[in-house]
Amino acid sequence: MRTPLVAGNWKMNGSATLAEAFGHAFTEATLPEGLEVVICPPFPYLEAAQRAFDGTPLHLGAQTLNPLHSGAHTGEVSGRMLGEFGVRYALVGHSERRQLYRENDEQVFDRLLAALSVGLTPALCVGETLSERDAGHTMEVVLRQTGFVMSRLEPEQRQRIVIAYEPVWAIGTGRTATPKQAQEVMAAIREHQARHDHELASGLRLLYGGSMNADNAAELLAQPDIDGGLVGGASLKVDDFLAICQSAS
Ligand code: 13P
Repeated sequence: MRTPLVAGNWKMNGSATLAEAFGHAFTEATLPEGLEVVICPPFPYLEAAQRAFDGTPLHLGAQTLNPLHSGAHTGEVSGRMLGEFGVRYALVGHSERRQLYRENDEQVFDRLLAALSVGLTPALCVGETLSERDAGHTMEVVLRQTGFVMSRLEPEQRQRIVIAYEPVWAIGTGRTATPKQAQEVMAAIREHQARHDHELASGLRLLYGGSMNADNAAELLAQPDIDGGLVGGASLKVDDFLAICQSAS
């Protein structure tokens, strides 16, 4: 039985005030039994969010982390530092990091290892661009991105990661993958892992991300291989994000 997970990625948005609003709303909220909920705010709001989420079901995640623990790396933040603020999850390989900051599979892998080394749960983001989909390369791209990381991990490490399928063309565009499209790719990710390790594959948590909102979440989350969501824009509005969490049952 896989624990469902809904994570909000605020990207370079939000505020300490928004973190407080989430804290208030989720203190009162009734959530589906066993659902894990994570918010990934920008680094400067972590402390405010840690305070605001205390006593609520909300956990903290980071949007990225440096592969190293410390050193002369101006502007960077390490996993160890994140842990001091109660961070439990870390996104790695988000398509915005891959595209805007040129992170390649090796760098994504290094960040993921760094997260594991300090006890954070990495959420590995994978997904194809529109031109890759149109050219019929979706599975090849997604399986390469996941395979690169999974094949380099120890079996024990593989059990500690989450994979988020985020088709690049669906991110921030309002153009959600249909439940069938998302299910197809996510089933393929699971099947591919099952060829190596059946038990791992059946326990692997897979999240869908890309224009998920309060209206389309229930149908996406009802798909057999979708164990949760990674939500961007709709995680900036308390009511919308809460509604998405409530449709994960
Ligand atoms: P949107 O929900 O805004 O499409 O963003 C998805 C995403 O990139 C989450 O990481």
